[in-house]
Amino acid sequence: MRAVDIIARKRDGQALSDAEIHWFIENYTTDTLPDYQAAALLMAIIIRGMKTDEVTALTTAMAQSGDTLDLSAIGSYVVDKHSSGGVGDKTSLVVLPLVAASGVPVAKMSGRGLGYSGGTLDKLESISGFTSNLGEDRFIQQAKEVGLVVGGQSKDLAPADGKLYALRDVTGTVPSPPLIASSIMSKKIAAGADGIVLDVKMGTGAFVQTLDEARELAQIMVNIGHGVGRDMVALISDMNQPLGYAVGNALEVHEAINTLMGNGPADFHAHCLEVAAYMLNLAGQGEKWTDIDATKADLLTKLDNGEALNMFRAMVGAQSGDVSFVDDPSKLPQAADQETLTAEHTGTVSCADALDIAKAAFELGAGRETKADKIDPAVGVVVHVKVGDNVKPGDPLATIHSNDASKHEAARTHLNNALTISEEGIAPLPLFYDVIKLPSASNS
Ligand code: URA
Repeated sequence: MRAVDIIARKRDGQALSDAEIHWFIENYTTDTLPDYQAAALLMAIIIRGMKTDEVTALTTAMAQSGDTLDLSAIGSYVVDKHSSGGVGDKTSLVVLPLVAASGVPVAKMSGRGLGYSGGTLDKLESISGFTSNLGEDRFIQQAKEVGLVVGGQSKDLAPADGKLYALRDVTGTVPSPPLIASSIMSKKIAAGADGIVLDVKMGTGAFVQTLDEARELAQIMVNIGHGVGRDMVALISDMNQPLGYAVGNALEVHEAINTLMGNGPADFHAHCLEVAAYMLNLAGQGEKWTDIDATKADLLTKLDNGEALNMFRAMVGAQSGDVSFVDDPSKLPQAADQETLTAEHTGTVSCADALDIAKAAFELGAGRETKADKIDPAVGVVVHVKVGDNVKPGDPLATIHSNDASKHEAARTHLNNALTISEEGIAPLPLFYDVIKLPSASNS
C-alpha cells in the first residue's frame, strides 16, 4: 500500500477500507509515515467525512496502536464515563463515587486539562499527596478492593491518538466529528470498560456549538461503541454556561466535596444524579436500575447518607491523598487575592458565557497552553449566577481568585464579556437536550 493512494482516495470522496485505515495508523504510529502525509489525510477526512464503518475501523486501529487494559480481573461489569470537555465540569468527582457506592466498580483513566478544558487529574492533585501514577496492577487491585480508582492515562494507551491529536492541534484539523469521535472512543475502548456513558457537551464552552453537531458526534460514538461490543449511552448536555459555579482546580474540588456533602449547586447536583443513573442503568443490564427516576432517588440516598462521600474519601486515601482535605476542604490551596464583580443594575442574567469564563480562569493560571505548562491549583473564578437569575445592583456576579494582581484586569475583561444582564425575563437553560442509546441503521 502507498500512503499517497490512500490520501488521494479520501480526497476524492471514496470510502477507505479497513485494511487501508489500519495500515495507515500502524505506520504513522511507528514513525514510518511522516506528519505531512498524516496531516493531508486528516484534512481530507475533515472535508470528505467518513462512513460509520470507516470511523469504527479508525477507532479500532487507534485503540489497538498500544496497550489495552484487561479489566476482567475485577470480576464484574465495569462502567466508565467520559465528558467531551467543558468548563467547570467536575462531574467525575461526584458521579464516580456515587456509582461505586452503589456497588458497581469504577476503574477510570482520566486526563489532564489542555487549553480551556479542565482535567480530572489536575483537579484531584489539588489534594496534597494524591497520585494518579498507579501502574496497571495497583489500578486493578484498587478497583477490586476499594471499588473506585482514577488513574492517569498511560502514554502507551492509544498512542496513535496522542500523536494524531498533537498534529490535529497544529493543522486546523480538530473540529471534525469523525476525528473527535475516534479520538475519544479509541481511549475509552483501550481502557477496557464494558459500558460507557458519554456526556457530550454542547454550547460555547464545548467542542460543538449546535444541537445538530452534538447529536451527530454522539451518534457516531454510540455507533463505534456498539460496533466493538460495548454498551453505550450518550447524553447531550448544556455547556453554554459553566456547570456549577466554580471554575478552577481546587475551587472545583471544593464544590464537588460540598456536593458530596449535600450542599452543591442545584444544576451540578442534578447533572451528577442523571449521569450516575445512566451508568447504573448500563451496569444493571436490563435487570436492575431500569427506571432512571427511581435510580436517581436511590442515588440521592447515597449522597444524603454520606456513602458517596466515604467512597470518595476511600479513593483519595488509597491513592496516597491526604483525606483531611476531604474532611475539611478549606485546607485545599487558596489564592491570595479575591475580587468580586457585582451587578450595576436590576435585571435578569441572560448570558454567563462558558468560553469567556474559561478564558478568565485560564488567564489567572488555572489552565495550560501546552502539555509542559504548570497550572496554579488555587486560582480560578467562582460565578455566582446562572442564566435566568434575577439580580439587583450590588449583587455578586463572579469572584476572581488570583495569585497575581497583574492578571486581574484581563480576567475582569473576560468576565465582563461573559456576563450579560438584560431587562427582559429569561428562562433558565436546560441541563440536558437529548439521550442517544441505539446505533443508527445506515453506514453513512
Ligand atoms: N477530546 C478528545 O479526547 N479528543 C478530541 O479530539 C476532542 C476532545
